[in-house]
Amino acid sequence: MVNFGFTISVTRAVEYDKNDKGCAEYVALRVPSSSACIGCGGCSATCTAGNLTEFNIRKIQMLMKRGENQLYKEQLHKCMLCGKCLTVCPRGVDTRGMILAMIEYMREK
Ligand code: SF4
Ligand code: SF4
Repeated sequence: MVNFGFTISVTRAVEYDKNDKGCAEYVALRVPSSSACIGCGGCSATCTAGNLTEFNIRKIQMLMKRGENQLYKEQLHKCMLCGKCLTVCPRGVDTRGMILAMIEYMREK
């Protein structure tokens, strides 16, 4: 096989209708500010856990809202709950509260 220096990702569709939106609904009720996210990435750029691991708070939020819970639930424990992400969010999203609500939901389930 010729090495072109890149690989082509497998096409992946997001199946909103089939995904479990329970966590997204749970988080939206407990952390209303979560709907204000504009996906700027400020939180992930400053995230302590993100600097040390593959943890990506912006991506986790996106996956959670899509209902793709299986793709991030193992990552939640990496958040150190330091709150740095809260201080930079231009939309005032309580990202730490969101992580806590996600952990709560996963525990209850
Ligand atoms: S900093 Fe705030 S608005 Fe930007 S991606 Fe993070 S949560 Fe969303
Ligand atoms: S509270 Fe969690 S998500 Fe926010 S900066 Fe700290 S480690 Fe990252």
